Amino acid sequence: MANAYQIIDHTYDVVVVGAGGAGLRATFGMAEKGLKTACITKVFPTRSHTVAAQGGISAALGNMSEDDWRFHMYDTVKGSDWLGDQDAIEYMCREAIPAIIELEHYGVPFSRTPEGKIYQRAFGGMTAEYGKKQAYRTCAAADRTGHAMLHTLYQQALKHEAEFFIEYFALDLIMDADGACRGVMAWNLDDGTIHRFRAQETVLATGGYGRAYFSCTSAHTCTGDGGGMVARAGLPLQDMEFVQFHPTGIYGSGCLITEGVRGEGGYLTNSQGERFMERYAPSAKDLASRDVVSRSMTIEIREGRGVGPQKDHIHLHLEHLPADIIHQRLPGIAETAKIFAGVDVTKEPIPVLPTVHYNMGGIPTNVHCEVVRPTAENPDAIVPGLMAIGEAACVSVHGANRLGSNSLLDLVVFGRAAAIRASQVVEKGSSHKPLPSDSSDLALDRLDRLRNAKGSIKTSALRGEMQRVMQNNCAVFRTGEVLEEGCQLIDQAFAKRGDVAISDRTLVWNSDLVEAIELDNLLYQAVATLHSARNRLESRGAHAREDYADRDDENWMKHTAIWVSEKGETTIDYRPVHLYTLTNEVQVFPPKARVY
Ligand SMILES: Cc1cc2nc3c(=O)[nH]c(=O)nc-3n(C[C@H](O)[C@H](O)[C@H](O)COP(=O)(O)OP(=O)(O)OC[C@H]3O[C@@H](n4cnc5c(N)ncnc54)[C@H](O)[C@@H]3O)c2cc1C
Repeated sequence: MANAYQIIDHTYDVVVVGAGGAGLRATFGMAEKGLKTACITKVFPTRSHTVAAQGGISAALGNMSEDDWRFHMYDTVKGSDWLGDQDAIEYMCREAIPAIIELEHYGVPFSRTPEGKIYQRAFGGMTAEYGKKQAYRTCAAADRTGHAMLHTLYQQALKHEAEFFIEYFALDLIMDADGACRGVMAWNLDDGTIHRFRAQETVLATGGYGRAYFSCTSAHTCTGDGGGMVARAGLPLQDMEFVQFHPTGIYGSGCLITEGVRGEGGYLTNSQGERFMERYAPSAKDLASRDVVSRSMTIEIREGRGVGPQKDHIHLHLEHLPADIIHQRLPGIAETAKIFAGVDVTKEPIPVLPTVHYNMGGIPTNVHCEVVRPTAENPDAIVPGLMAIGEAACVSVHGANRLGSNSLLDLVVFGRAAAIRASQVVEKGSSHKPLPSDSSDLALDRLDRLRNAKGSIKTSALRGEMQRVMQNNCAVFRTGEVLEEGCQLIDQAFAKRGDVAISDRTLVWNSDLVEAIELDNLLYQAVATLHSARNRLESRGAHAREDYADRDDENWMKHTAIWVSEKGETTIDYRPVHLYTLTNEVQVFPPKARVY
C-alpha cells in the first residue's frame, strides 16, 4: 500500500534529475544564479554515461582551418535531414564558441595544437563553406573528452552550493490538476527511504534509452527513466523513430570505437579489401554522416561482402597511422580494441558493426528547454514547471540524425540555457502552492506493485525479449511488414509488465527492483519507438524504410508526438518543424537533397 511508506519532504527552487553533462551544467548554473538547487542521481555523478564520450565536442572555433558557426548550423540542419528546429540549431551553433571557451576556463584539459590552441579534429558531416570541404571542428581531449568534461563539470558543481542526492532513484513526477509539474518522488537506494522533492522547476536530464536494444554502446544505466516518467504523466514523447546506429561498435561486444578514428584518417573495408565508402559518398567517404555510413556497411554485408567466417562485419583500419598519432590522440581506442577485440591496432584492423548509439527522440522542448506538448490551439504549449535537457530531451537540434560531437555540445549549451531560463521564471525562495493530496500516489503505487510482484517472468527474460524485438524489428533498414510485426511483438512484451517476478522485497540496495523499474521505463519507449516508426511513411535520416525510400517533405516534414498509455495504447499527433531562425544573422536553410 502506497500510504504505508514514510515520506521525507524537501523543498527547493529547482530540482535537476541527472548528473551527466547536461544535469551538472544545469545544476551549477542554477546554483550560481542563487536558486536553491538539488541534483538527484541514481549513480555517482562521474559515473554517468557522459564519462564514456570519446571523440569530442564541436564548435566553429576555426583553430585548425577557417570556420564559421553558420557552416556548423548548415551541417547540423543537413545532418538532421531537415527535421531539426532551425531556431534551436542556430542557438546551439552560435553559443558553441563561448561554451567551449567557458569549458576551457573551467579547466577541461583539451588536447592542444603546437601553438597552444585547442586541438580540433575532422568528424562526420562537419564541413566548411556549406559542404564544400571537410571542417576541423571537433575539440578533443585525446579520445577521452567526456571523461575530461564530466570531471570538470562535477568540480564546478562542488564549487557552487548545489546539494547532491547521490544514489537516489527518481520514480515519478508530481503533476497537479492544472497539468503543471510540482516536483518529483525518489527512492534512496542506500537506506530505502522515500523522498518527495517540491520544486518550481523540475529538470529531467536522465540521458538516453539505448538499453531498449540488445546491442548498444551506452551504459547499462541508460534506461530512459525520464521518458518513462513523462509518458506516465500523460505527456508525449517526440521523434522516437529516430535511433542512431554508430557505424563502428566492436563486433560482438558493441563497445564504441569513436568516429575520431576516421577523423584521424582511419577507413573501412569489406572482404575484398575495398574502401567501399568511396562508392556511397564520393566526396565525404568515410566521414559521411552516421546514418549514411551505417546503411552502406549493412548493404555491403547483405550483398555478401562482409568480413570474418560469417561474413557479418566490416574492418576498420588504423594500422597505417603513425604510432605517435595513435598514442597521442587515440590511446583509449587502442586499449579498448585490445581488450574487447583482441586486436593490436598498429598491426591489424578492428572488426566493427553498426551499433545503437544515440536517441534523437525524447521529451519535446522549446529552445528554452521548457517541455512542450501540442494542443489543438498551440503546437508549442508549455508544461509549466517541467524542463528537459541532454539526450533525454528532443529540442530538437538533431532532428532525424545527430552529427557526431554535437551531443556533448547540446549538453553544455542547453544545460546552461536551462539555468538562464530558470533564473528568469523562478523567483528565489518563493513559496510553493500546496501539493495535491495524491502527490505521491503514482510513484508509490508503482513502486509497491513492482516490489511485491509475484508474476512468472524474470525481469532479465522480459528485458531480453524487448531487446530482441527492437534489434530485429527496428534496425538500420525497416519495412512496413517488419515494423508491423515489431509493433505486435513489443505490445505483447509491454503487456507482460504486470507479470514480472521479483524475489527481493526489501528497499535497501534492491537491484532486482531497480532493474524492474528501469525495464518498465524502457518498455514505454520501446513501444513509442516502434509505433512511431511504423507510422512514418518516408525515409529521413536514421529512419530508412525500404518501402518508402524517399524523403517526403510535403507530408512528413513534421515531428511525431506520441503518447503511450498505461495499457500500452498509443496516440500520435504532430508538431511543425521550426523553419525560422532566432535572429537575422543567418537565414533559414531550405530543404534540399542530402548527399555527401
Ligand atoms: C560510448 C559513447 C561515446 C560517446 N561519444 C560522444 C562524443 O565523443 N561526442 C558527443 O558529442 N557525444 C558522444 N556520445 C553521446 C553523448 O555522450 C551522450 O548523448 C551524452 O553524454 C548524454 O548526456 P546526458 O547528460 O544527457 O545523460 P547521461 O550522461 O547519460 O547521464 C544521465 C544521468 O541521469 C541520471 N539518472 C537517470 N535516470 C535516473 C533516475 N531514475 N533517477 C535519478 N537519476 C537518474 C544518471 O544517474 C545520470 O547522472 C557518446 C555516447 C556514448 C554511449
